[in-house]
Amino acid sequence: MDTALLIEKLNNTHSLNKDEALQLIKQGAQHKNLLFALAQQTAQKSFGRQIFVRGLIEFTNYCKNDCYYCGIRRSNKNAARYRLTQEEILECCRAGYGLGFRTFVLQGGEDYFYSDEDIAAIVRAIKAQHPDCAVTLSIGERSRETYALWKKAGADRYLLRHETADCAHYAKLHPAELSAQNRQNCLYTLKELGYQAGAGFMVGSPYQTAENLADDLMFLQKLRPQMIGIGPFIPHHDTPFKDEPAGSVELTLVLLAVLRLLFPHVLLPATTALGTLAPGGRLLGIKAGANVIMPNLSPQNVRGKYLLYDNKLHTGAEAAEALNELKREVASIGYRIVSARGDYTEEPWTQG
Ligand code: SAH
Repeated sequence: MDTALLIEKLNNTHSLNKDEALQLIKQGAQHKNLLFALAQQTAQKSFGRQIFVRGLIEFTNYCKNDCYYCGIRRSNKNAARYRLTQEEILECCRAGYGLGFRTFVLQGGEDYFYSDEDIAAIVRAIKAQHPDCAVTLSIGERSRETYALWKKAGADRYLLRHETADCAHYAKLHPAELSAQNRQNCLYTLKELGYQAGAGFMVGSPYQTAENLADDLMFLQKLRPQMIGIGPFIPHHDTPFKDEPAGSVELTLVLLAVLRLLFPHVLLPATTALGTLAPGGRLLGIKAGANVIMPNLSPQNVRGKYLLYDNKLHTGAEAAEALNELKREVASIGYRIVSARGDYTEEPWTQG
């Protein structure tokens, strides 16, 4: 089928088979104006011209894992490690609440210094102080019991990118003790437990093929997560992938638009990695159908230390305190930052 026709079909059916996915991955860029226009139209049907914000608190950069792409992998002896206390995390939330944030995302390495109960206590404390806010966790693969404990403590959402759906490709990015299967099982468990769950992948990670990306789109159609995070791979100088090229901004934008058309209601951030690689990257993401931005709400003195990849943005409009700057940027392309919790819903947007 002609690629423009395929895009129209995707816009009507919100589904793709693997061959169609491959065609869009390979040829979508030649039709990016059509893709971006339809993706924006779809996002506006679901969310109006609202952009949801999430305050990202990177509370520990200790990690027991050794993912080959990640700057905070345990083997990186040059990483300056830090952990935040419960009180420091609560202080971030208080500051964020004052700025208008109503979702707090606690992200970190897989750091067993915090017991399951420590994390539960942190979630309970945030929910007690800010009952009108959502709490999102993003701290890796755990047992069903642990996820259930944190859900009961009040966690609403969980981000766990599947990274790549293909087991063989997964094995080229991770040491043998980590598996694609376990990570995918965690995502199904999170959904079953009632979390709004977020999957996702890096674009242009080493050894990635177009077929791998097509499999990612097939996996997402099976899982049907409420959130999808994608961003370009960016090398970090202290990892085994230090000499690998970064992923393509254009392909990331094409995939954002395809994801928006596949999943009209999904919560889809314009990620920090996209902003890091391209000037105005987050605005490009919105123009490709993204509807979420996650500014950095970590304490100033640790922001430069959560370095997953080189040159990671953490200042300027990326910083939560600069929300006004971000509001201006977003307004300049006809959107507006809103202070709502921004939960997943399949209700179409109606002007309130
Ligand atoms: N430990 C948590 C949080 C991981 S950091 C977890 O296991 O989910 C969040 C995401 O950053 C990862 O899922 C990965 O997709 C992305 N990331 C890590 N290193 C990266 C790199 N070098 N370039 C781009 N994205 C990277």
